[in-house]
This record gives sequence, C-alpha cells and structure tokens, in this order.
Amino acid sequence: LYIHSAPLLDVRNAEIGLLIILNDVTKLRHLEQMRQDFAANVSHEIKTPLTSIKGYMETLTNHHNSDNPLSAEEQSHFYSVIERNVDRLTAIVKDLLHLSQIEQIGGKHHLALMETDLSDAISNAVITCSEKANSKNISVEIKTVSEKKIKADPQLIEQAMVNLIDNAIKYSHENGQIIVKSDIDATASKIVITVSDNGPGIARKHLNRLFERFYRVDKGRSRQQGGTGLGLAIVKHIVMAHNGRINVESKVGQGAQFSIHLPF
Ligand code: ADP
Repeated sequence: LYIHSAPLLDVRNAEIGLLIILNDVTKLRHLEQMRQDFAANVSHEIKTPLTSIKGYMETLTNHHNSDNPLSAEEQSHFYSVIERNVDRLTAIVKDLLHLSQIEQIGGKHHLALMETDLSDAISNAVITCSEKANSKNISVEIKTVSEKKIKADPQLIEQAMVNLIDNAIKYSHENGQIIVKSDIDATASKIVITVSDNGPGIARKHLNRLFERFYRVDKGRSRQQGGTGLGLAIVKHIVMAHNGRINVESKVGQGAQFSIHLPF
C-alpha cells in the first residue's frame, strides 16, 4: 500500500484538513512478480539445452584433438544429442513467439474473425496429428454433433485443437483412444469442443496450474516427448481471445478431458 498525504486548503489557503491517498499496488506487484518469474523460467529452460550442447561439443572437440579419438558410434550419439537439444531450443523459441503474438492479438480487433466451420478446424487438426497418432497406434475419433458456424479465427482455433490432440497423443499409452467432440450448448449460446483420452490422467492437485507457462506434471516425461510446457498456455490465450474458457477434468489412471467453450 502506498500512502501519500497533502494538506487540504480552502480558498484563503487556510488548512482545513488532510488529503490522504491510499494506493493499492498489490495487483501491480503481483504482475511484476509474474514477469520476473517468467523471465527466470525462460532463462532456465533455454540454459539447460545450451549447457548440454556446449558440453557435448567440447567433448567432441577435445577428443578430436587428442590421441584418444571417439569411435564413429560415439560421435554419432553425441551429434544426435546435440541435434535433439537444438530442436528443443527451436521449439521453445517458436512457442514463446507464438504465445507473445497471441497475447498481442488478445485485443479482439486483431483476431482474423470469420464465419468458421469448427468441424473443418477439428478435422484439419486431426490430420496434422495423424502421423504421430499412427506411430503409437492411437485412434483419434471425431464425433461432430454440431455443424454450427461461429465467428472465430480459424487458424488459431485449429492451433488450439492441435495442441490438445498432440498432448493427448504424447501422454497416452500405445493403442490409446482419443475422442474429439463438438456440441452445442444452446441455453448458454456456446459451442463446447472436448478432447478426451484414456491415458494416465492428471492428479487433482495439478489441474488448476496446468495452463501456466512452463508448468509440467512430470518435467522429464514432457521433455522426452519434446514438450515445451507452453502448449496449454497457448491454448488458454487463444480461447481467452475468443471470450471463451477452457476446462480440464481428470483423475489419475482415468484419462483426461479438456474442453473449450466458445460463445456464438
Ligand atoms: P508440454 O509441452 O509439457 O506438453 P503443455 O502446456 O501442453 O506442456 O502441458 C502441460 C502439462 O500438462 C504436461 O507437461 C503434462 O504433464 C500435462 N498434460 C497435458 N495434457 C495431458 C494429457 N492429455 N494427459 C496427461 N497429462 C497431460
């Protein structure tokens, strides 16, 4: 709380009271703290792969210049680790840029709004993810109940769907099942799109933090899957830019269900 005070004077400059201004800066401080945390998180996320790249490159160089050269196999392993870390950095930068773009277009007038057929956005997203799904023998079924068009930015909605379906594939076991459904909730004038999987599910204590940037239930598992920890934050911002909301329901061992509610 910031407190300012000044004497209150009448027209003849006589003191008739004291003016006290109380300025509540809690929100401002909170925002500032969030900004600082974000910068620290970004630095950490970028530093980890960089450190690994540097280490492996040094080893390659040192052995190259020594009497004890690495075998071709060892070299190829080191190069592949370096490549994986470069891919990881690329993914982080791409997602960060994307997130900041969406935040900027959060002001609705920047959205490329048009009459959007959600079933197109859904089927495009499923096609984008099909190779990954096939590689784990996971089925992705579309159950489109509604054909209603809504005013939306089709590319962003498709991106949100890709992120949700991609997660469902990433965290599900082989031979899993994913169902993408869209439904009209006429009483609330909204369309609800749901992505459900029968994967490992998420413990309750994590549910309300999942949409934070870089929040991951299992960091190792997310990394191993090529995750950046930004996918759900991107989905949340896309949905918010459309005045919608996102919801998750899950229990450990019973799969997860993410639903996007979009007003029409
Ligand atoms: P990531 O790049 O790590 O996947 P996200 O923001 O997309 O980041 O997701 C955050 C975390 O939420 C993931 O690391 C994972 O722990 C959890 N998660 C997301 N979707 C699912 C899902 N369908 N099943 C189980 N866990 C999930």
